[in-house]
Amino acid sequence: MSYSGPTELYIDGEWTSAEDKKTIETLDPATEEVYATVAKADEKDVEHAVSAAKRAVDRDSEWRQLAPGERAEYVREFSAALDSMRDEIVLTESHDNGKTPFEAQIDVETAINTFEYYAGWADKIEGETIPVPGDRLDYTRREPIGVTGHVVPWNYPFQLAGRSLAPALACGNSLVVKPSSTTPLTALYYAKAAEEADLPDGVINVIPGSGSDAGAALASHPDVDHIAFTGSTGVGKGVMESAADNITGITLELGGKGPNIVFEDADIEAAARGVHNGIFMNAGQMCWAGSRLLVHEDIHDEVLDLVATRAEQTPLGSGIDDDARMGPVVSESQRKEILEYIEIGKEEGGTLVTGGSIPSEKDRGYFVEPTVFTDVTNDMTIAREEIFGPVLSVITFEDEEEAIEIANDSPYGLLAGVWTSDLTRAHTVAEYLDYGMVSVNEYPVTFPQTPFGGYKESGYGREQGREAINEYTQVKNINVNLS
Ligand code: NAP
Ligand code: MG
Repeated sequence: MSYSGPTELYIDGEWTSAEDKKTIETLDPATEEVYATVAKADEKDVEHAVSAAKRAVDRDSEWRQLAPGERAEYVREFSAALDSMRDEIVLTESHDNGKTPFEAQIDVETAINTFEYYAGWADKIEGETIPVPGDRLDYTRREPIGVTGHVVPWNYPFQLAGRSLAPALACGNSLVVKPSSTTPLTALYYAKAAEEADLPDGVINVIPGSGSDAGAALASHPDVDHIAFTGSTGVGKGVMESAADNITGITLELGGKGPNIVFEDADIEAAARGVHNGIFMNAGQMCWAGSRLLVHEDIHDEVLDLVATRAEQTPLGSGIDDDARMGPVVSESQRKEILEYIEIGKEEGGTLVTGGSIPSEKDRGYFVEPTVFTDVTNDMTIAREEIFGPVLSVITFEDEEEAIEIANDSPYGLLAGVWTSDLTRAHTVAEYLDYGMVSVNEYPVTFPQTPFGGYKESGYGREQGREAINEYTQVKNINVNLS
């Protein structure tokens, strides 16, 4: 199927080719064929986009002069415009990323809900009055930061872009978005929505381009006032360093190695469903994947059997297949890396229970079988490193204390799952886990209303919820001498 959506950069309210006329060819991972060709921004285009954004958020600009309620109305219209393109975006995402339409539909829905949620915030961003000594009035204002830069990965191209764009927009900033060059298409629908909702020029700019070129130029630009980066921990460290040169604020959403801890008193069927979902959704290409199953030794065989059977029954298929529940991984290089990890798992003594190969019935598309290893110890490579594919490592524990110890023995700390019917245990274990998010008896789950982010090397700052309002505004304190 051919692509007929937007293919140009969107800068200062205009669709334009890259200044050097460079382009990106993006593949459909299910067919391994070129799906679309889009303009490819480089440093010069970043310059244009940032200066347009800077003008758009100038103190006297139309955008900054809006009453908060009027800004809320813009965000609502923006959200409605996205909603009207929903089916087209789902189809595009499925072809560009490889995820099934079933999954893409959830992503698009979540993103639209996020804009609706933050539209509600736009006129509720309040300051405080502070009791100070003497005859004074002291208060704070929460003001927009200015230009926010958004660097987005390929695993949830539309949803993760929306997650940081929505609060940044609602807080009155102007935005420059750089999607991954592997999946550049759906971010351009945010530009289309900006056009439909008649946002002032320069408030949203979308510039597909490569990370090392356009991404690095955006992250190090002195006129960018906040960077929202979602991606790998390695690249995130580099973004943090370049932000330091300009004292630019950052939000980092990085990798994970999520433990799903299943206690002997859990609802085993529900846990097996959650564990399966937590590692095979999006073909395991999730920062918050539950890639380690920590299971009590007494129920290991039972849980493993349920999870492995589900894994074997997962319908694999492409973006045109409505029944598919797991698509291909995003690229050939990604698949190669996953298969290498599977070899390492075998070499280091993991027992392959199911999967481990390219499915024999798929002669096209970057498919990998849902894979489960058991007899894994937490020092093995497949238990420590983020594989970013459909590979589950099963580790047993003897008691609560050991479960917590194994779970916390990781450089990452994004999302952890706890499966138990004991209320006291649920809360106690949740408190002891060094994770930014803990979910009890379901996995994975998040909402626009709840803070998303990680401890340790999983990130810095928080997206979503009220927390993100703090990320995308800055505080001004005003003191008035009344005497
Ligand atoms: P990545 O290589 O770090 O890329 C992420 C984004 O950064 C892409 O847009 C990429 O552009 C860009 N980029 C690459 N090099 C850059 C540089 N030097 N300066 C500025 N930007 C640069 O990560 P990925 O492989 O796409 O995504 C997978 C990773 O993202 C995993 O580690 C996963 O855990 C993490 N992730 C985290 C979350 C979360 O919320 N915590 C969510 C999803 C994914 P190009 O793609 O064009 O190179
Ligand atoms: Mg693609």
